Amino acid sequence: MTVNYIDLRSDTVTKPSPAMREAMMKAEVGDDVFGEDPTVNILQQKVADLLGKEAALYVPSGTQANQICIKVHTQPGDEVIMEKGCHLFNYETGALSFLSGIQPHVIEGIRGVMQVEDVKKAIRPKAYYMPRSALLAVENTHNRAGGTIYPIETIRELHNLTRAEKMGFHLDGARLWNACVETGISPKEYAAYFDSVSVCLSKGLGAPVGSVIAGSKEFVEKARKFRKIFGGGMRQAGILAAAGMYALDNNRERLKDDHAKMKYFGRELSNISSLSIDMEAVQTNIIIIGVENTGRQPEEVLAMLKAKGALLTMGNWMSVRAVTHLDVSMDDVKRAASIFHELFG
Ligand SMILES: *Cc1c(COP(=O)(O)O)cnc(C)c1O
Repeated sequence: MTVNYIDLRSDTVTKPSPAMREAMMKAEVGDDVFGEDPTVNILQQKVADLLGKEAALYVPSGTQANQICIKVHTQPGDEVIMEKGCHLFNYETGALSFLSGIQPHVIEGIRGVMQVEDVKKAIRPKAYYMPRSALLAVENTHNRAGGTIYPIETIRELHNLTRAEKMGFHLDGARLWNACVETGISPKEYAAYFDSVSVCLSKGLGAPVGSVIAGSKEFVEKARKFRKIFGGGMRQAGILAAAGMYALDNNRERLKDDHAKMKYFGRELSNISSLSIDMEAVQTNIIIIGVENTGRQPEEVLAMLKAKGALLTMGNWMSVRAVTHLDVSMDDVKRAASIFHELFG
């Protein structure tokens, strides 16, 4: 017998809907390594237009999207400045050192947001015996900080700093769509400040596979070469790109529902005194739940929740993490909140 878990582990667990599968089935395809997959080409054009960039490139994963961008921006021995909790530094298995010979230079942000003064201090003097500060990478929304949104003013200031310092500026926008529906700021406006942008189709948007890189024509031509080198050249990928198209057309606005569900969940959990919740960080579809005062280790908390039918993941130190998405209803969220009340209230 399969148990019907409320799966709050990640917005990556979403499964393609019947309508999305229908779009995949009908997709026209060709060999994308030859640039001949019409559906991939349409998807790339659509994302380039949405982000206001000259060109875009479809890739298998968000990790590969980020890593290709880093490769294009840097030379071995360079530094990339990034926030301590970011995906690039924590969840890409050291790929930037492995693939590009990069030395990460991490600084601590406030709820994941790097402050301009701290970035300034991290930029190296231009001396031949020091690493070159080649790139600044921003994550919006910030996953590990709990789905927090970068203020556009901060992005603008960081952009100006990178221009003055002649550094590249990369956006890990795996969940940029979430920031956009929450703030009303368009993807184009956010993207305008960056040389390269990576976005995921397989998180809250619900496609089974895929990310897209966007930038100048020249940037994307270089990226295409590294995509092949990194093993990301796909053939009749249109069948997957069709799911991405469907996701962009149908599932962006509804991310607001995920945010509403998460705000409800956060408020409910805030009433439980043994849990530590920073509601100011609950801005989109993620929550970090501090469990230190429950007297239990996070692993135990996860096991107790699972036994009652709710799946979550580990957070940072002494915390667990929940994510709302397309495949959890408001009722599921209410049920998950009552499980927390039952166990820890
Ligand atoms: C999920 C995610 C990625 C990419 O993940 P893949 O699993 O490789 O697709 C990149 N950055 C952030 C912030 C993410 O949350």
